Amino acid sequence: MGNKFVRAIFPGSFDPITNGHLDVIRRGIRLFDELIIAVGRSPIKNQLFTPEERVEMIAELITDMPGVFVESFEGLTVEYASQKKGQVILRGLRSLTDVQYEFQLAMTNRAVAGIETIFIMTSEQYGFTSSTLIREVASLGGDLSNLIPESVHRRLTERFSRPEGARPDPTREVLP
Ligand code: ADP
Repeated sequence: MGNKFVRAIFPGSFDPITNGHLDVIRRGIRLFDELIIAVGRSPIKNQLFTPEERVEMIAELITDMPGVFVESFEGLTVEYASQKKGQVILRGLRSLTDVQYEFQLAMTNRAVAGIETIFIMTSEQYGFTSSTLIREVASLGGDLSNLIPESVHRRLTERFSRPEGARPDPTREVLP
């Protein structure tokens, strides 16, 4: 990308962050000067962790990554990117199913804001890792040690060890 300073925005729910996300972040920062991990404050999705908790978990994991930052945002990703003077949106790809959805999203973002999206393909071992599956497996007490960082594992265990009834449903989406 020549000598131009390039700031990329990596938007997502990160509920919670997984080793798959971290893999994209580690490889992404090699391509850009700055990478802002942007945690979406979606009003529609029923989230397990609050945006503040998600930002905190990510912040702990990027302390040794110069040029990588994290914050939460509300509203349109393209508006956030333009406000942050980000030239590029970074997204990760796991499968052909991802491609279909991501293609549409990238085309829309380019059409409405002229912003390019750059994709990084996941490492094979994370091809099936999604935050949704992590939440499901964690709620059933499964072993996730290869798929999420230890600090995230601790938070999940803590969240799901609450008394029955006080536990969040890991899969339910709240209707708008
Ligand atoms: P969103 O709700 O915006 O899809 P996610 O947190 O699920 O937010 O994902 C954020 C980005 O990270 C997306 O581009 C997604 O494809 C990518 N991603 C998620 N899991 C992985 C993984 N295991 N490997 C590579 N990319 C991933």
